[in-house]
Amino acid sequence: MPDVLIAEDIRGNGVDALSARFDVSFQPDLWRDPVRLATQLGEARALIVRNQTTVDAALLRSAKKLLVIGRAGVGLDNVDVAAATRAGTVVTYTPDQNAISVAELAIGLMISLARNIPAASADTQGGKWSRRRFWGTELYGKSFGIIGAGRIGFLTARRAQALGMKILACDPLISRDNVLLSELSAESLSLEDLLTRADVISCHLPATPKTTKLLDAACFARMKPTAIFLNTSRGQVVDEAALLAALKRGELGGAGLDVRAKEPPEVSELEKLPNVLLTPHIGALTYEAQDRVTAAICEDVARVLDGKAPFYAVRHC
Ligand code: NAD
Repeated sequence: MPDVLIAEDIRGNGVDALSARFDVSFQPDLWRDPVRLATQLGEARALIVRNQTTVDAALLRSAKKLLVIGRAGVGLDNVDVAAATRAGTVVTYTPDQNAISVAELAIGLMISLARNIPAASADTQGGKWSRRRFWGTELYGKSFGIIGAGRIGFLTARRAQALGMKILACDPLISRDNVLLSELSAESLSLEDLLTRADVISCHLPATPKTTKLLDAACFARMKPTAIFLNTSRGQVVDEAALLAALKRGELGGAGLDVRAKEPPEVSELEKLPNVLLTPHIGALTYEAQDRVTAAICEDVARVLDGKAPFYAVRHC
């Protein structure tokens, strides 16, 4: 029986270093088979996952010796942290390592929508030269609103500021005197005011019962008809049916979504709208971010197995 079970496709130098010291079983497809996963987990002291494996109370009951769950990534919606804490299992994650990559994707979606880059490229690659069809909008001087001013929200806003945009922020859990928001000269606003004033609105929220469908029909109705809406956080925070209806009514200018309520999503009319850009949850998928994530999660798992405190323990309150 292995010491460390890797249930998803997580590889790199960090895994090699861990394998040199512990008995590691790398099974990238194990997450697809919960029954086999439960059997394999029996004697393991560590489990490493991304966001596909459901680590719930039932699975944890099958683990006899589990000391640590390493979540290679940020969102913890697939790990029942409360159940793990009750079972005496430490949960670690990698909150900082992929934030830059997600921020860069959000900026990429924004510029692509403002300048119609995917549509213009597809048209030109189709042999046309339609210069008058692809008028765009400048971002300089416009306002960039972040909903959720945590790690990724801040890094995205900093990049938007570098483009000459003014930063608006909504985060009721962060003080108005927050040093990072001051660094951006950001204006702290209520959600309603941010939605009314921002030219670009970018969601960086965790998926929690309180944020589920936070962006609903009333929110889209408040936006400027030219507003660009971005979501690179979690699909659950957006009421997708309301977004589709708002786009069809022309209540906002366009949307860029990296994450969906259901993944993979059912094909809907969203896929057909010309002012919508969709990517398949690739925010964190850069070589640099994944190297950092793998190294960090393997280091933390090794620390727990060595009886040391991890650097990035998740605290359950
Ligand atoms: P974070 O915890 O650093 O920041 C989240 C912020 O949201 C916090 O500051 C919190 O106070 C704020 N918040 C909570 N409820 C709020 C509310 N109702 N209104 C406004 N603000 C609220 O998290 P992060 O590392 O910045 O990650 C943000 C999101 O991005 C998470 O959902 C994470 O899962 C997701 N993510 C996506 C990808 C991807 O591949 N697209 C990769 C990494 C992370």
